[in-house]
Amino acid sequence: MDSYEVIIIGGSYAGLSAAMALGRSLRNVLLIDAGEPCNRQTPHSHNFLTQDGETPAMISAKAKAQVLAYPTVKCHEGLAIKAEQITAGFAVSTIDGQRFEARKLILAMGIKDIFPNIKGFAECWGISVLHCPYCHGYEVARQPLGVIANGDMAFEFVRMIYNWSTALTLFTNGLPALNDEQAEYFKRKDIQIVTDEIAEIVHQDGFLKHLLLKNGNKHPLKAVFGRGGLEQHSSLAAELGCEIDQQNLIVVNGVQTTVPGVFAAGDCTTLFRTVSGAVANGNLAGISASKELIAADF
Ligand SMILES: Cc1cc2nc3c(=O)[nH]c(=O)nc-3n(C[C@H](O)[C@H](O)[C@H](O)COP(=O)(O)OP(=O)(O)OC[C@H]3O[C@@H](n4cnc5c(N)ncnc54)[C@H](O)[C@@H]3O)c2cc1C
Repeated sequence: MDSYEVIIIGGSYAGLSAAMALGRSLRNVLLIDAGEPCNRQTPHSHNFLTQDGETPAMISAKAKAQVLAYPTVKCHEGLAIKAEQITAGFAVSTIDGQRFEARKLILAMGIKDIFPNIKGFAECWGISVLHCPYCHGYEVARQPLGVIANGDMAFEFVRMIYNWSTALTLFTNGLPALNDEQAEYFKRKDIQIVTDEIAEIVHQDGFLKHLLLKNGNKHPLKAVFGRGGLEQHSSLAAELGCEIDQQNLIVVNGVQTTVPGVFAAGDCTTLFRTVSGAVANGNLAGISASKELIAADF
């Protein structure tokens, strides 16, 4: 059993950024990472200074090389399956039967996207089924786009995506739950509303060809915007006693969870999901853990 000063669960953008701050604070750190970031399917990542248009894997690989150059930072590739409080701090067990201990814990595990039950949705995710126009809107701008959503969320989503394309169709995928005011607004903006159920997102290698409805109609589109639900990847945070909110996010004050000594950063804590945000947030978690260790040891 190995002991560290800080264990970071999740070694993507938030976790690596925390590890960099801690490596530079001369702290013994273990990153435990299962290697499945949420953006792994997207061909290019955008909207992050110095890395615009880079592949997600390349950004991670470069970050990992820089972080592991600090001799006190180690990485264990694998899944953490248990985390518990012990007298000395925290113990984390991994799926390959190893157990590690640390004084502080940082949760940077990202979040799991739950896809709607539409054939082709998962395969096109991050390629031509998009969740964020700031990440991928520019590349499909001024072309025919769709939004798959209903109710108030449909109104918010359509209003946002209209900035990128006015050739916009809303697919409610069943009975519309729009109020009269919203429907009238869409009519005035010339936004087509299709209420028939979607049979399939027809694509080639994730690139959308058309949306096929159950009534047989086909809608050729460049991309569709849509979102499903969110879930934590595991019950680790809850088992540690961290409060989880109604949106399935870990409750934080800054980066401090409701459990002393446990910090959380990145997508597992916020709906504001960007690589730059995860990097900033992770760095703050690393610095916060370092400051607590400095204060305890002085
Ligand atoms: C399809 C898609 C495209 C995107 N495109 C962009 C973009 O172009 N620009 C942009 O700025 N943002 C983009 N984002 C958002 C961005 O990818 C996220 O905000 C960012 O990846 C969050 O970083 P993170 O470190 O918090 O989590 P993630 O990057 O999701 O990484 C979490 C890591 O923790 C690991 N992990 C989870 N549980 C465990 C466990 N129990 N044990 C060990 N490891 C564990 C996972 O395997 C993973 O490696 C996109 C998101 C999606 C879904």
